[in-house]
Amino acid sequence: MTPQRADGWWKVGGVVRCEWTLELRTERGPPSVEAAGAYHRYHGKKCCPTCVNFAHWDARKARHVVTNRGGTAGNLPVPASARDGFLYAKSSMEERMTPQKRILTGDRPTGKYHLGHYVGSIANRLRLQNDYECYFIIADLHTLTTKPNKAEVMGIEQNIRDMIIDQLACGLDPDKVTFYVQSSVKEIYQINLIFEMLVSVARLSRLPSIKDMARAAQIDDEQLPLGLLGYPVLQAADILMPRAHLVPVGKDNEAHVEITREIARRFNFLYGEVFPEPDVLVPDSGTLIGTDGQAKMSKSLNNTILLSDDAKTVEQKVRGMYTDPNRTRADIPGKVEGNPVFIYHDMFNPDVAEVNDLKDRYRTGNVGDVEVKKKLAIAINNFLEPMRERRAIYEAKPNLVDEILAAGNAKTRKIAQETVRMMDEAMGLLYFKN
Ligand code: ATP
Ligand code: MG
Repeated sequence: MTPQRADGWWKVGGVVRCEWTLELRTERGPPSVEAAGAYHRYHGKKCCPTCVNFAHWDARKARHVVTNRGGTAGNLPVPASARDGFLYAKSSMEERMTPQKRILTGDRPTGKYHLGHYVGSIANRLRLQNDYECYFIIADLHTLTTKPNKAEVMGIEQNIRDMIIDQLACGLDPDKVTFYVQSSVKEIYQINLIFEMLVSVARLSRLPSIKDMARAAQIDDEQLPLGLLGYPVLQAADILMPRAHLVPVGKDNEAHVEITREIARRFNFLYGEVFPEPDVLVPDSGTLIGTDGQAKMSKSLNNTILLSDDAKTVEQKVRGMYTDPNRTRADIPGKVEGNPVFIYHDMFNPDVAEVNDLKDRYRTGNVGDVEVKKKLAIAINNFLEPMRERRAIYEAKPNLVDEILAAGNAKTRKIAQETVRMMDEAMGLLYFKN
């Protein structure tokens, strides 16, 4: 931009960077609606991702609202009302200083969360909710790819309720985070269909994750549903619907986000810049081992400690945990490394001195499993206690989940409608719409 004037307005005859909320005016005041429209039509595909849409021009306030990520430059035609030949722009410093990027993440509604989910994703969400505009999807349509039966569909609602309450109990704040249900935002179906045109069957067929999911659901090649092959495409629709910049996912989902990036690139190449290419964020926390010593805590392996387990259940599950199998008596030296009991101590017991003392005595055969496990159960229960307190408050409000999801769905639908409109305009799918 050319130099800023004393009153905060910049002369922008040629090129402007659209990085934040930008107000435009000419020396006679705001450009007319016609000029604004012409400006937008002229911009077409050239400017920032939000510029392609006339709806982003708030004509009454003469504000060109640009909330997407910046960096893209566009040529501004100077409207006729600018007698001195210049358009002036003013950026909102407030937004400039806090450019909030958008996050999309979520889960399929398969049941209550366990400690593995906490370590692998919820802990990360708790950090991210303060710095990003967060959209957390409950991806119910994705469960249909392997579980389309009515009986299974009937269980989804309760799973959703449990998962929202679990997340609130962890400290995720519905004032900061938008929770919504995938099937309640019908625009996702529309976006998914368009995206299906932008990726090849061969590309999807090569993904090992699709084969893994089919194998886990005991589906052979002949029976593989089109929808399961399209799992990553539907995920791309989820991610690009709110035009997210960042996608926190588990390692197993990284390849799917790559498909999302390819679809975003392909769409932008064919029709003009609408979507950011989202970055993937894989937490470095690793995978939490199961209570039975298997590599992953997982519902299907029945080796979990749920965030909603009560104190007695935790004690019972910890008592039954797998430890060093060679240690049949308390006076036999035991192995600490790789031992799930000590992995959990390291993870959930903040009393480092106690943990080190237990490890030393375990290695030298001076402590019984009972004491090690008792102390672990206390540590895990201390860890879960604040969640239990928050859960009690939330569970006392019977309509809370319905209210949170109604608000989240409505807010998300608005963004989804905006995205569909941007896609239609970019593609030229504008005929016979009314
Ligand atoms: P489960 O595996 O218990 O049946 P799920 O299949 O619904 O649960 P996943 O898709 O396996 O859930 O995982 C959802 C998210 O939680 C992913 O980000 C994944 O990395 C994380 N996660 C799940 N289990 C663990 C674990 N044991 N350790 C670390 N992260 C985990
Ligand atoms: Mg799983």
